[in-house]
Amino acid sequence: MNTDFDCIVIGGGPAGMMAAARAGELGGRVLLLEKNRSLGRKLLLTGGGRCNVTNLQPDLHSLVGSYGRQGRRLYSVFAGFGPQDMLGFLRDSNVPTKVEAEGRAFPADDRADSVLNALVEYMKRSGVQVMTSTPVQGLQPPAKGSGLVVQCSGERQFYAPWVVLATGGFARPETGSTGDAIPWLEHLGHRIHHPEPILVPVTTRESWTADLMGISFPDAGLTVRGPDGRGLHTARGKLLFTHFGLSGPLILNASAEIKELAAQVREAAPLPKSLKAGGREAVESPQNGKTLYLELDLLPGEDWSRTDATLRQGCEQGGKRLVATVMAELLPPKVANRVCLQAGLPKDRRCSELSREERRRLAQGCHGLRLTYRGHLGADKAIVSRGGVDLEQVDFKTMESSVVPGLLLAGDILDFDRPSGGFSLQICWSTGWRAGERAAGMA
Ligand SMILES: Cc1cc2nc3c(=O)[nH]c(=O)nc-3n(C[C@H](O)[C@H](O)[C@H](O)COP(=O)(O)OP(=O)(O)OC[C@H]3O[C@@H](n4cnc5c(N)ncnc54)[C@H](O)[C@@H]3O)c2cc1C
Repeated sequence: MNTDFDCIVIGGGPAGMMAAARAGELGGRVLLLEKNRSLGRKLLLTGGGRCNVTNLQPDLHSLVGSYGRQGRRLYSVFAGFGPQDMLGFLRDSNVPTKVEAEGRAFPADDRADSVLNALVEYMKRSGVQVMTSTPVQGLQPPAKGSGLVVQCSGERQFYAPWVVLATGGFARPETGSTGDAIPWLEHLGHRIHHPEPILVPVTTRESWTADLMGISFPDAGLTVRGPDGRGLHTARGKLLFTHFGLSGPLILNASAEIKELAAQVREAAPLPKSLKAGGREAVESPQNGKTLYLELDLLPGEDWSRTDATLRQGCEQGGKRLVATVMAELLPPKVANRVCLQAGLPKDRRCSELSREERRRLAQGCHGLRLTYRGHLGADKAIVSRGGVDLEQVDFKTMESSVVPGLLLAGDILDFDRPSGGFSLQICWSTGWRAGERAAGMA
């Protein structure tokens, strides 16, 4: 058994790399084990390849508040290494950053690999030994004494007084986050909350979203309506049309709520036999009319009567103008066409032929483009999944498990609800940093 290390980190994602580098920087002899051939595969996908690295909230209180009920546990780790510290780390690594809407921070060059390179360099400077293509197969306490034994393939074993478990959550398994550590943790006595994808794109019955694929609205409103048309949930944020339906932070952040409402509607209407629910399967709603409607406000900053007035002025510029042309001054042309269709207007309708009632319908359509909810994509397409180690069993001052001394936990393996917007990675940076400090005897 190899006993050369003070700390072994399992998992070369954002949390593991940060933990390893910090422990090494503080003088620990550190080994990082990663099963993929390369580090940070999921990190490279983040923010559509741009990496929304963190979120700048006005203060610590608002930051913690973004994580819901469990967020209070994060005060200490964020105070130790928060969003500004992460931006400072990137600046010192020659990766300037920029801040976009809603406090989302990105590398200025819009490249996730700049962030990955900064972490890899940090590990090099800190003397971390990295072994890729090395899947860990088990974790157990040694026959005698403290610390942990890490089991790799071919009877190869490593021992260290500290082990950081940073194997990730359950979303996007092709990147390596396949939940390998769950049976080990259960065996060691941890309570595990089983995976449930949150922050998942939504599919719609209407296939015309495919024509609008790639069109985004930086600010749109969403109203989720029940089968009877009653508003059940509202939200606002960035919207993206996709070939399967809807995505973007507006939809991702509302996805757990939509799923919950869809389940309530389904209870009122029995599931068709073929329908599979939960787990990694995509979830679909029944086709018998008992479903939800997703209404999009594409001009959320203004009242519909103002939109109506703008349309009237546009039409007054010339009776021969196509209504679609006037609409395209308000919305991207393809979306404008879709609103015209929803309002029951043919493509070639001229302004001179537009009745007052039709104009009202168009104005209302800009504030209520309607889609029928079909389901959610499966866990394989989730951005983040809920589930992981019960937070009661973790000491957030050190990131040490309260069940197994010497075991430190960081990143997505922890059962936090995270909104989209850089919040997920910030947990990785902060918990990784703290775990690294603990492994080096500093926390
Ligand atoms: C498409 C997409 C976009 C996202 N965009 C953003 C964003 O812009 N901003 C944001 O904040 N968050 C984003 N997230 C979430 C973010 O990527 C995760 O929160 C983050 O990657 C979690 O880091 P981690 O280190 O905990 O785990 P991971 O990144 O999952 O890394 C875990 C590592 O452990 C390795 N591993 C697993 N099992 C073993 C084993 N048995 N032996 C050895 N190694 C093992 C895996 O191969 C993997 O490399 C996004 C997620 C997805 C899927």
